[in-house]
Order: sequence, then C-alpha cells, then structure tokens
Amino acid sequence: MSNQELDVLRNKLDDINLDLLKLINERAKLVQEIGKVKEKQGVNKFDPVRERKMLDLIKDHNDGPFENSTIEKLFKEIFKAGLGLQESEQKKALLVSRKKKPENTLINLKGEIIGNGIPSFVFGPCAVESYDQVAIVAEAVKRKGLKLLRGGAYKPRTSPYDFQGLGLDGLKILKRVADEYDLAVISEIVNPADIETAVEYLDVIQIGARNMQNFELLKAAGQVDKPVLLKRGLAATIDEFIHAAEYIMSQGNGNIILCERGIRTYEKATRNTLDISAVPILKQETHLPVMVDVTHSTGRRDLLIPTAKAALAIGADGVMAEVHPDPAVALSDSAQQMDFEQFDQFWEEIQKLNWVTV
Ligand code: PEP
Ligand code: MN
Repeated sequence: MSNQELDVLRNKLDDINLDLLKLINERAKLVQEIGKVKEKQGVNKFDPVRERKMLDLIKDHNDGPFENSTIEKLFKEIFKAGLGLQESEQKKALLVSRKKKPENTLINLKGEIIGNGIPSFVFGPCAVESYDQVAIVAEAVKRKGLKLLRGGAYKPRTSPYDFQGLGLDGLKILKRVADEYDLAVISEIVNPADIETAVEYLDVIQIGARNMQNFELLKAAGQVDKPVLLKRGLAATIDEFIHAAEYIMSQGNGNIILCERGIRTYEKATRNTLDISAVPILKQETHLPVMVDVTHSTGRRDLLIPTAKAALAIGADGVMAEVHPDPAVALSDSAQQMDFEQFDQFWEEIQKLNWVTV
C-alpha cells in the first residue's frame, strides 16, 4: 500500500471519528432532555429494562465485524456516560448545592450569625437534667460572652434502660433558661410529631446522627420556620449527608446547619473518627454553614482542644462541645463532658486563635 493510499484511509477514519463524536454528543443532548423530563416526573434516571431493550436492538442490527459482546461493552460505556451527565445535572439542581446558590447561607440566632466567617460556639450539657443544672451552664456560657446553648431533652440512647431525657419538661427548662439568659437554645427532636411543639421552645431543632435518614423527621423539620442543625449519620457518606439536608430544604426550610460529628470506623482510640476533610468538602459542595461536634466525634476530653483548633483551621463555621457542672454524675456521656474548669481552659485556648471574636 502506498503512503498515499494510507493517507486516504486515515482521512476517512478521521472523518468517521468526527461523525461519531457528533453523534455521541447529539445522543448526550437527547439524554439530557430525557433527564429533565424524568426529573419532572420524579422517576429514576437509571432504567435497566430500557437499557436492555436498547442493547438488544443494537445487537439485532450488528452485522460485524465486531462481536456482540464487544458492541455491548462499547455501548454500555456510552450509556454510562449519559447517565453520568444526567446525574451531574441533578446534582447541580440540588437546592443545598453551592452551584445553585453561590453565596453562603447565614443563620441568625438571636443576633449571632452562623456562616459569616466568624466561628460560633455551642456549649451545654449532653442532656437536660434539671433547671439548676442547665441554668448554671448557661451562666458559664453567658460569662464568656457566648450566645448558644445546647441540651438534650429527648435522648436517643443505645440502651432503652438508659436515661431517655426529660422530654417536654426538658424543652420547657431550655426555654426558661434561654429567656432568662438571653441565649439561643439547640435541642434534639426525635419524633416528627414533636416538631410543631419544639418550635415554641427552641431556637434550633437538632436532628441527631441516628436520625439523619429519618426521612419523615427531615420532612417535618423542613415544614417549619425554625433553623435545623443536622448531624451527620454514624455511617453516612458525605453524599447521603447532603441529600438528608436536601430533604429539609426541599420542604421549604433552608436554614440548615450541617454538623460533622465523626463517623464509625475500625479505629477504637476515639469514640468515632472525626472526618475533618468533610468540612471543606461540605463548604465547597453546599452553601450551608458547617459545624464540628468535638465531643461526640472524639469521646475524649483530652482531644477537645486540638480537634476544635483543627475544625476552625479547616474552615468550620462553629464548634459544639458538651459542658456539665459535674460530669461524673451526668446522666449521659459522663466520660466526655467538660467540667467548668476544663471549659475555662478550652475557651482560653480557643481565644488565643486570633480569628475568634466574641
Ligand atoms: C447530641 O448531640 O446530643 C448527640 C446525641 O449527638 P449525635 O446525634 O451526634 O450522636
Ligand atoms: Mn452527648
């Protein structure tokens, strides 16, 4: 074969490549359109029955020289790429996505702005045990010029025989303390039916790690006009975490604070493994403020200061940690809550970081 003949064939091949490129992209545009229709109908993007039908039709028309198995492989790659396009379109469309809303969501809690670049701090006992117990912590929080107080009224415990929280009485204590000390209070709600009531008593509804995929609870929290602090599930991927937030926002409530609280890994040195890189990922992917709970992620008092520093250094909008007047007799999480002396030390160390302004 002369060089000239080879050139002719190569030119033909180039033309076919370009034709294929055009066709593949035409196909992609069609796939995108189909994706939009499916989105409106709320149906699943991946349809294995349809994919099988398309492959069968193609193979029926295959006159070679490619074997059917090769053709199937090639077309499956094309299908996969098309599905990927549909999914990235869908991701772009998530309400919590930064692509949808580039600017940070700011949440105003009685004048404390979460998400504006100045870190916020949430301190308070694991569980509300009595008015006196919450009030004395509130006083310590107030003395530091802080605004946010936590305390669990409904406690999701591993054992049904452990202290389950004071329930509505706990919410009433929080409300009273919030009013008396002019603080904003955060507390976990575990039952969708309690959301309406909680709105009257709380400044932020917390949805705990164990309930991150309690979709009815997420939807109920999405239907009220009250900020939600959503914790990452014990074994939830970042994608699942983001979609849990989407459940809330899709119901109309966009005031969501994401809270990384450690995930379960094989590591036993800490109660959970703090996934610190989740913070910048969540900040990049969503427009929501991101906090880090150093108490539940580490389960260790000696790690509270270094992990809080790490959280702030990596760009967290806030830190949560548990404080109890007498942790040794606490009805829950007694091993990891700070007493007032430790709280003072913790706060002293954090204040040395020059980006903290109270
Ligand atoms: C809590 O903050 O009280 C709590 C139970 O945390 P988590 O849901 O992260 O375990
Ligand atoms: Mn706790």
